[in-house]
Amino acid sequence: MKTNLLDFDLDGLVAWCQAQGEKKFRAVQLFRWIHHKGVADFTHMTDLAQSLRLMLQEHAEVRALPVVSRHDSADGTIKWMFDVGQGNAIETVFIPETDRGTLCISSQAGCAVGCPFCSTGAQGFSRNLSTAEILAQLWFAETTLRREFNTHERVISNVVMMGMGEPLQNYAGLVPALKTMLDDHGYGMSRRRVTVSTSGVVPMIERLSQDCPVALAVSLHAPDDALRDRLVPLNQKYPLAELLQACRDYLAFAPRDFITFEYCMLDGVNDSDDQARALVALVRPPHGEPLPCKFNLIPFNPFPASGLLRSPAARVKAFASVLSDAGIVTTIRKTRGDDIAAACGQLAGDIQDRTDVAGRRAKTIRIHA
Ligand code: SF4
Repeated sequence: MKTNLLDFDLDGLVAWCQAQGEKKFRAVQLFRWIHHKGVADFTHMTDLAQSLRLMLQEHAEVRALPVVSRHDSADGTIKWMFDVGQGNAIETVFIPETDRGTLCISSQAGCAVGCPFCSTGAQGFSRNLSTAEILAQLWFAETTLRREFNTHERVISNVVMMGMGEPLQNYAGLVPALKTMLDDHGYGMSRRRVTVSTSGVVPMIERLSQDCPVALAVSLHAPDDALRDRLVPLNQKYPLAELLQACRDYLAFAPRDFITFEYCMLDGVNDSDDQARALVALVRPPHGEPLPCKFNLIPFNPFPASGLLRSPAARVKAFASVLSDAGIVTTIRKTRGDDIAAACGQLAGDIQDRTDVAGRRAKTIRIHA
């Protein structure tokens, strides 16, 4: 089996090249060809020595993921489904806006957290994606879109690790991928434009602050532990007080001076004015330091197995007003790509559930008290 060079950040590629008897600067050239220029064919890497190109052809490859399907939304959003083997498929979404192009990337085949409002969680969990499988989503989307838009300029300016999976439960696969996104010889993205979204894996938030402090988004979804235990089951392990302290600590290293809190609006579950006021008290404690943050309210995208409904637009607005009136910057996310099931919480792929997350969840989680 040939080595897939998408599996390496620059340090990893240097080590691999040196193990083949090549110098460090050759690894930098190779890395630039792959990630900066989007070239997979070694014969096109014209400034590499002929002997190196022959060695690469024999022992290495840039192996993208097979595309199962592609759907284009009327609003320009594109969703790809990729085959990652053994009956598993993952999804990746490109969201074009006037001033940016954002790619939403998956980190796992399924997800073990099992949030009941999320299609991915409903499918259960199969396995972590490798660094190569994470980076292949970016490499493929960038090279494909450049070709289609007939440009040599970068098309994808922002990455959000908000696709399928909990990225901080796949830390070993995630970090080299993030480093490649940030590397000037790779995709050269600023730390502000790469966001890891977590449901609250507290110890890994701290590790990320040391290893690769990119922008952080936290899926909050509830103002108290009792409700969050049911909406984000990981809360039973890492309750709100620990999570919010981890967020405060992260800010010392973060590229932005605030944490983004994601909040999925569920009709009659977490969307009352009282709950909005409880959120304000959570991040602006009466006798403590305020936590610098922004709220992003997400209209729920219902799916039958959830038994949940989207909050009415007027309720979402009223909820947002409580937060805004307290001086907290609050946005209501525009749904994008919902005609192709590419909107938030709709990514489902095709998962061979090894952990029976879906079954256990159905037995244990009751949302409406
Ligand atoms: S919302 Fe995120 S953490 Fe929760 S089940 Fe879905 S992918 Fe996993």
